[in-house]
Amino acid sequence: MWKIPFNKPFIAGKELFYIAQAVQYGNLAGDGEFTNRCARLMEESFCVPRIMMTPSCTAALEMAVMLYDIGPGDEVLLPSFTFVSTANAVVRTGATPRFVDICPETLNVSEDSLQAAVTAKTRAVIPVHYGGVGCDMDPICRLGKSAGCPVIEDAAQGVNAYYGGRALGSIGQLGAYSFHDTKNYICGEGGALCVNDESLIDRADNIRNKGTNRTKFIRGEVDKYTWVDVGSSYVPNELSSAFLFGQLELLDQIAERRQQIFCFYVESLTPLADSGHLRLPVIPENCTSNYHMFYVILKSARARTELMEFLRDRFIQAVIHYVPLHSSPMAQRISPVPQQLPVTEDLSERLLRLPFFHDITESEQQTVVDATAEFFHE
Ligand SMILES: *Cc1c(COP(=O)(O)O)cnc(C)c1O
Repeated sequence: MWKIPFNKPFIAGKELFYIAQAVQYGNLAGDGEFTNRCARLMEESFCVPRIMMTPSCTAALEMAVMLYDIGPGDEVLLPSFTFVSTANAVVRTGATPRFVDICPETLNVSEDSLQAAVTAKTRAVIPVHYGGVGCDMDPICRLGKSAGCPVIEDAAQGVNAYYGGRALGSIGQLGAYSFHDTKNYICGEGGALCVNDESLIDRADNIRNKGTNRTKFIRGEVDKYTWVDVGSSYVPNELSSAFLFGQLELLDQIAERRQQIFCFYVESLTPLADSGHLRLPVIPENCTSNYHMFYVILKSARARTELMEFLRDRFIQAVIHYVPLHSSPMAQRISPVPQQLPVTEDLSERLLRLPFFHDITESEQQTVVDATAEFFHE
């Protein structure tokens, strides 16, 4: 029904060929040829000591929280303006998520708000790199250090994006990537855990392999494998990894395409921004974005709804983003005391994401821009 959908999965290179090859290799379960090739390629490109492929970013976040034995009585700091997986990873262990506010410029977690939320019970900090623009990691890492707790980056949207020259996901003790259909590099459902603190590698291997030391067994370090820790099924299948490898080997080419799409929107919408109808995304100087998405911020919640409907009537799918987690039914069940996070509440109501995918054409983008200008009578 959409003339221009919000998202569309894509094939960029040899994805289907590699799937056929994976079948020929005769191992469709995890940690075969392609799972390893994906991990090694990213370790090298992003300077990460060990990357473990997972079935999703959700799984990688769960592993991260398990690795620190976070549980009942513990608190974990995270923005309210994020996807539910960031909070679920915490809540499922019995720990309490402490939601904090964001900065109005980047919509990334605010250090002041983080600082104010630290207590004696704080056990981890999870910054979320919104839209592939890095959080201000230097002060966040300092805060983690002084609070004596690890920084776990939710870099679901941050694959191949950089902060001060360092890859997102490689900066905290742990980082989590997503290869879901809606992300920059895709395989349907997929993810990875960046293990930057090498002392966590062995245990992460066990947790990922259902709590067994199977990795040591495969390397010939033990003669049988057995149950050594709590764990789950966090290894992705080879078919997904084969598809993903076809995209990761075109890392820069896919990134360039996204940059073109982003720049086209910026250039075309600048007149509307200059006349005060909307605000464009901000990328701080020390950040290299991966151009995960393109959003505009309208002057009011009402303007956002009206523009979304105006575009919908023209079969253009523009979508809102996160409904703040601190005001969700689940958050109210965890903590009955209502919380106020003014920047999150304000911006989440005024943000609208425009169609953005690898194969969108310039004329499709022009159609989106023209319709938006028409809405404002410009
Ligand atoms: C997409 C996303 C996730 C979840 O990723 P999956 O791979 O679908 O589990 C988590 N956090 C953020 C910020 C995301 O954008």
